[in-house]
Amino acid sequence: MTILTETSSSTGRGTVPSGTMRAAVTTPEHTLAVQDVSIPTPGPGQALVRLITSGVCHTDLHAVRGDWPVAPKADLIPGHEGYGEVVALGEGVTSLEIGQKVGNAWLWSACGECEHCRTGWETLCESQHNGGYSVDGSFGEYMLVDERFAARIPDGVDPVEVAPILCAGVTVYKGLKMTGVKPGEWVVISGIGGLGHIAVQYARSMGMRVVAVDIDESKLALARKHGAEVTVNAATDDPGEAVQQAIGGAHGVLVTAVHPKAFGQALAVTRRGATIVFNGLPPGDFPADIFDIVLRAITIRGSIVGTRQDMAEALDFFARGEIHPTVAVEPLDDINDIFERMERGQIDGRIVMKY
Ligand code: NAD
Ligand code: ZN
Ligand code: ZN
Repeated sequence: MTILTETSSSTGRGTVPSGTMRAAVTTPEHTLAVQDVSIPTPGPGQALVRLITSGVCHTDLHAVRGDWPVAPKADLIPGHEGYGEVVALGEGVTSLEIGQKVGNAWLWSACGECEHCRTGWETLCESQHNGGYSVDGSFGEYMLVDERFAARIPDGVDPVEVAPILCAGVTVYKGLKMTGVKPGEWVVISGIGGLGHIAVQYARSMGMRVVAVDIDESKLALARKHGAEVTVNAATDDPGEAVQQAIGGAHGVLVTAVHPKAFGQALAVTRRGATIVFNGLPPGDFPADIFDIVLRAITIRGSIVGTRQDMAEALDFFARGEIHPTVAVEPLDDINDIFERMERGQIDGRIVMKY
């Protein structure tokens, strides 16, 4: 139970509820503990958001388990697919209103001044903050956003289905653009989890023909439901042989899988001149034959989330009814169980938590 107190004498600036909120916080055992924590106060340029839903991304699992070379902040509240309503504005905020629907994102903020920011590559800013990693995120009842970077959510969208667009959607939309695959050409999407099943839909909407690769039959069925024409089970078949035989190699590949093996296999599914984009971030490396890459002029590139413009475009595809994430709703209290199922590859589509 929270009590509302006025924090600003001027009307229209909203209120910060007094009291505490429920949130999932990292523990030294690399799990999450759902507990009562203080409701944050928005600083200059920030807004307080009452969360309605939040998707659970595999990146949150990497963050909690400590998988990556750069550690997250201590006592982290993860989550970067949070959707909610602005309830209080910090000093100087002019572009957000009380009641407006916004999302946080992995790209929580960037400096706006560096070479990367100035050239439209704010996702590469070295001074960026990341939602649910270097700043607290959306696995709680409230979160802060930076007014410059909060995703503006179009009116009338489904509050559950929109959550996965905020990371999975924008990430694969940007990744698919980076493949350079043209309408009518083939893209292989490797890994049909939260990201991959949405990638199949963006690819189709962008006019691409889709081959889906995963190690689980139910994921491949999901890919077919969302429009994949060819599916390959990498647990039973060799993806290179299967894709070369079926379509003569793909023009582009998007790897969202969480096992390094899929990254090496990406080379074998390409045709000459193809571009491979890596979205997945499992710890590890993969074998790559130099002669093969040079002689066949293969491009391999990484792609990290998307800019604010990519986000607006990804949300626009969604708002026009082109993208329908497969979602299941679960409570915040189930978060450790959700993570265990995610680790075992037992989630179809995305889990979205509702507050
Ligand atoms: P997820 O757990 O929902 O899905 C992972 C999928 O990979 C599952 O369907 C699983 O069956 C499949 N998989 C596992 N091993 C495979 C193999 N050998 N070959 C093919 N498929 C295999 O995870 P998610 O939320 O979709 O995230 C996927 C990865 O993308 C994570 O590493 C996450 O951190 C990363 N990610 C990156 C960005 C970015 O901007 N680059 C953004 C979001 C997530
Ligand atoms: Zn910058
Ligand atoms: Zn994510």
